[in-house]
Amino acid sequence: MPTHFRDPVLTCDNCGATADRPVGANYRTGWERLRAEGWTARANGAERPLRFLPHTTIHACGDCPSVAVDQVVAAG
Ligand SMILES: [Zn+2]
Repeated sequence: MPTHFRDPVLTCDNCGATADRPVGANYRTGWERLRAEGWTARANGAERPLRFLPHTTIHACGDCPSVAVDQVVAAG
């Protein structure tokens, strides 16, 4: 189930694994640690009604396939 942006726990949408959401002074290092562990995330584009930015996020833990959206790099 997509994780609401106020939820203190991130949940992997594939296997249900959880991790504490980095907050406060732990914000930067916490997200760096999650990325190092292989966690990926993307906005929930299926959210309806979609007003402004989505309020929920799709997450995947390090043991599951990435849910990150590939970056498109313009060919020079
Ligand atoms: Zn998982």
